[in-house]
Amino acid sequence: MSESGSMDRRGFLHAGVAATAAGLAAGVVRAQDAAGDAKPGEGKPVLPRRMLGKTGVEVTLLNQGTVGEPAALDRLLRFAYREGVRYFDTAESYRNAETVFKAWFEAQPEVRKTIFLATKHHVNRPEEMLDKVDKRLERLGTDYIDLLFFHGLSTNQKDWPKSKEMKDAIEAIKKTGKVKFVGFSTHDPSIAEQLQNAAKGGFIDVIMLRFSPWLEKDSALNKALDACHKANIGLVSMKQIAGQALKITQARVPSLQEKNLTPAQGLLHAIWTDERFSASCVTMRNQDQTRENADAARRFEPLKLSELNELRDALLAAGPTMCPNCDGRCAVAAGTKAKLGDLARFYTYHEDHGIRSHARECYLELAAEERDWLGADLAAAREACHNKLDFAKILPEVDRLLG
Ligand code: SF4
Repeated sequence: MSESGSMDRRGFLHAGVAATAAGLAAGVVRAQDAAGDAKPGEGKPVLPRRMLGKTGVEVTLLNQGTVGEPAALDRLLRFAYREGVRYFDTAESYRNAETVFKAWFEAQPEVRKTIFLATKHHVNRPEEMLDKVDKRLERLGTDYIDLLFFHGLSTNQKDWPKSKEMKDAIEAIKKTGKVKFVGFSTHDPSIAEQLQNAAKGGFIDVIMLRFSPWLEKDSALNKALDACHKANIGLVSMKQIAGQALKITQARVPSLQEKNLTPAQGLLHAIWTDERFSASCVTMRNQDQTRENADAARRFEPLKLSELNELRDALLAAGPTMCPNCDGRCAVAAGTKAKLGDLARFYTYHEDHGIRSHARECYLELAAEERDWLGADLAAAREACHNKLDFAKILPEVDRLLG
């Protein structure tokens, strides 16, 4: 199936499954290996872990995100810890989330060494990042960062991951001894090129990206993921497909019902079935979500292709609103400069992820022409999209809620 053409649902093929499902359990370090690590807080055993690319560090499959700084974040972080999460993610732009970590480390200094902590900062030139390190350390209340991301590489930064400038910047950052690993996060339509460049450059440790477990096998992004995996770059999924999709009932997917997995748990199992990914970052906003997702990690077994297909069909039938990312073919098909995928993503943040202020901030950061979808052929956009997002329904709501 060509990447540029519209496609039938049946054309989707999960890339990693056929080759790897049988051997995947071996890639996961089971919880009991680290059961003694549950203190402080006398929590549950550490969740199953996977090696994060070339870092040599095993991280928990589940990563507590902090985008939008959920209410009572201090309690949520501690609860995630007690549920066995040891990988935490934040960013300079997530309001005061970094300082919540600082308060946690002040109250329980012993926690810091037992977690893998990632943060992010957006810069306009690679060499600017070095100057941001001390500020991040101060805000986080730590003397080292496990993983520092260049936050949200854009299209005009797509060559950075193979550039001398970024390589030099990363070397200088690591030389300080204050940052162990460096990578980038991305939402950009040039994502496949960015990933291929990272595989060529050889100096990126980890990439965090939106991901759908139902990528076309021959798509540019799927090939780029293969290249990164081969180059031993750690891959972390984020902003998992959501929206209406997660409102499907368990009964709609018999294989989930048999395993007593909720749709959200099934989705995490679908992502973890792809052995290229080490972890999923999820901003769990209440204790029920954390409990549910931690339970999914504890009970993870790779899904069979038939189970993946059943889940995919149910999700698509439910009408997802979250753009799982690709090359932006929806906008091309619609003949618009509006960022249709981003608009749908911000709608999902607002309506389903409960991060309304963050959704509005993201929306306002777009240029006027990137928000202006009027005149776009929305039927063509829907047809072109992997996930058949219903733009004709979603975009008027974007204007009403975020405009
Ligand atoms: S909305 Fe669909 S077509 Fe558009 S960028 Fe996202 S996944 Fe791709």
